[in-house]
Amino acid sequence: MSVKVSHTADIQDLFKEASGLNNDQGSARLKVVMQRILQDAAKIIEDLQVTPDEFWNTVDYLNRLGGSNEAGLLVAGLGLEHYLDLLQDAQDAEVGLTGGTPRTIEGPLYVAGAPIAEGEARMDDGKEAGTVMFLQGRVFDAYGKPVAGATVDVWHANTQGSYSYFDQSQSDYNLRRRIITDAEGCYRARSIVPSGYGCSPDGPTQEVLTLLGRHGQRPAHIHFFISAPGYRHLTTQINLAGDKYLWDDFAYATREGLVGDIRFTEDAEAARSRGVEGRFAEVDFDFQLQKAPVADAEQRSKRPRALQEA
Ligand code: FE
Repeated sequence: MSVKVSHTADIQDLFKEASGLNNDQGSARLKVVMQRILQDAAKIIEDLQVTPDEFWNTVDYLNRLGGSNEAGLLVAGLGLEHYLDLLQDAQDAEVGLTGGTPRTIEGPLYVAGAPIAEGEARMDDGKEAGTVMFLQGRVFDAYGKPVAGATVDVWHANTQGSYSYFDQSQSDYNLRRRIITDAEGCYRARSIVPSGYGCSPDGPTQEVLTLLGRHGQRPAHIHFFISAPGYRHLTTQINLAGDKYLWDDFAYATREGLVGDIRFTEDAEAARSRGVEGRFAEVDFDFQLQKAPVADAEQRSKRPRALQEA
């Protein structure tokens, strides 16, 4: 028999007081959100008959989650970050803001302030023996006109599936660059083929995924922020075709229109003309930006990130 008391006046008063709604200090916004969190948490406890042990195990879990810096990973794995994209898509559709390259999740591993290059960049520091990847494409507006001077802020993992800054064994900003498109809207990068990656097997995110009967793997992918004056900031990523996790991504980032074909070439002549030796890969991907409805839309979200700005 489940006993329900959270709806009673006494308990609603308790949550109101705990949320600070009986004082005039602090943040009015947070108070409203906090009251709702407390009310809904109590409802979950009662409806699902959450036991005290389950409750306190969850409190302990949250401490461990934060201690491992994995809260951003967990919200991706639980589909909440993808949900925010779907919500934004629906809000856009409501006001007729459609078209262009689809958005998809940023994930928790962006680092601001990557080196800036005009037109083309080499992204890897040459220390890792990966397969050379030539990544190139163009940025267009909604009418198919090239956007010159757009910033293509691109970041991806190494062959081990780890990212510079978070993986201290890599050099600063390895596999992270900002490339400014040329007069034809082109960007070109030489890098190495990234590997997919998984949640740390001993970490708190994988701990929950395992209890949900799920894996914590992502397909190989390349992240992008695309921005230009007058255009709406685009946060997206391309997931590479042929990866076994392409449509089984634990973070739900793969979307129609965001699958990148990767072509591997063994041709020695083609390699020579590219200035490389042996097998290499090519990825072509174009982006299409929406016009910014308001100036603020040119900027990325203010979400906290590693190294805020440079
Ligand atoms: Fe990633």
